[in-house]
Formats: sequence, structure tokens, C-alpha cells
Amino acid sequence: MKIDFEKSDGLVPVIVQHTNTLQVLMLGYMNKEALEKTETEGKVTFFSRSKGRLWTKGETSGNYLMVEDIRTDCDNDTILIKAKPIGPTCHTGKTSCFDGDKTTSRGFLYELEKVIEQRITDNTEGSYTAQLFSKGINKVAQKVGEEAVELVIESKDDNLELFKNEAADLMYHFLILLKTKNLRLEDIEEVLSDRHK
Ligand code: AMP
Ligand code: ZN
Ligand code: ZN
Ligand code: ZN
Repeated sequence: MKIDFEKSDGLVPVIVQHTNTLQVLMLGYMNKEALEKTETEGKVTFFSRSKGRLWTKGETSGNYLMVEDIRTDCDNDTILIKAKPIGPTCHTGKTSCFDGDKTTSRGFLYELEKVIEQRITDNTEGSYTAQLFSKGINKVAQKVGEEAVELVIESKDDNLELFKNEAADLMYHFLILLKTKNLRLEDIEEVLSDRHK
């Protein structure tokens, strides 16, 4: 890692993102020692400006950030780390320090997943999502099956718009099916990324 610590008075900003979801978890600063400790121990260690010392995230809470990947930006003055969080990263108990924000730092699928979760817990009146979910797992699974078949049918056609719409239907119903098992997209992503190793 060829970081130019001198260029930035010994401290460089470090962005930590979730290794699977790519959600931005937090931002901290590292000096040379912090980076070395992070690389050798595999747990993200910052130089805390408020504590005035090396700070391994999770040292008291146990909510460590386990390093999966470290890279620098184009001019070697910023670090980007992909990490697997052991627990919530923010000291407020939220997954990310940026969770309080309205804009999600993940993708639209996660935003949709959140909306689906909300509709189900609130049992929102007039919501198709809430209605379907309340009919139970068999009904939801059947719907996924139907949408999958519709997608298969459209794949034999060359109308790309119809195909895209059926693909969207399938993904939406798939998210609801995950909810019937109390699972999230990130649980499935974990399986896929573990297989990849
Ligand atoms: P931890 O490193 O998780 O054991 O937390 C130790 C202390 O570090 C906490 O009491 C907070 O003061 C602070 N802290 C923990 N997580 C964060 C964070 N994501 N951002 C800023 N400060 C934090
Ligand atoms: Zn830069
Ligand atoms: Zn925080
Ligand atoms: Zn459909």
C-alpha cells in the first residue's frame, strides 16, 4: 500500500463499506501505524482524533470491522476498505453512521426492501404487498412461481420491455418471499459471496 501520509499531515481519510451490500458504514482517519495494525490484524483500526490514540473499531463493543479488501484512490491520499461488520457500526446501534439520512447509501433494491418491510409491519391499508404477505407463504411462493413462468415465456419473445417488466415482477415478489422467511437480500448475497471465495 503506497499511501502518502506526509502529503496529508500524517492522517488520511478512510471510507469503510460493507463487503456485500457496499453500504457506506463509516468514515475515519488512519495514520501509518493505524494502517499497519489494520493490515496485520485484519480489524479496522483508526487513529482517533478525539481519543488522540489508535482506536480499533469494536475494541469495547466487540463490533469489529473485519477487513476484506483495502485499496487507495487515484492519487493515494484516501483509503477505501471493504469490511464485514460483526455488529452495528455506529455507536447509536445503527448499521451505518449514515443511516439517519433519508438517502440510502445502498441501492434501490434495498430501498424497495425497506418499503416492503414497512408495508408488512404497518399492514398498510390498500397495500398489495401487505395483502399478499398476509395470505401466507404458500400464496407468496405461488406468486413467485407464476412470475418466474411469465419471465420464461417473455424470454422466448423479443419484446425487451415486457421481459424487463416480468423480471421486475419476479424480483419484487422474490423480496416478499424472503420476508416470509424473515430473510433479507443481504442474507442471500452472503451465500453468493461465500460461494465465490
Ligand atoms: P467501539 O470501538 O465500537 O468499541 O466503541 C468505543 C467508543 O468509540 C464508543 O463509545 C464511541 O465513543 C466510539 N465509537 C464507536 N463507534 C463509532 C463510530 N462509528 N463513529 C464514531 N465513534 C464511534
Ligand atoms: Zn485522492
Ligand atoms: Zn456513528
Ligand atoms: Zn408478471
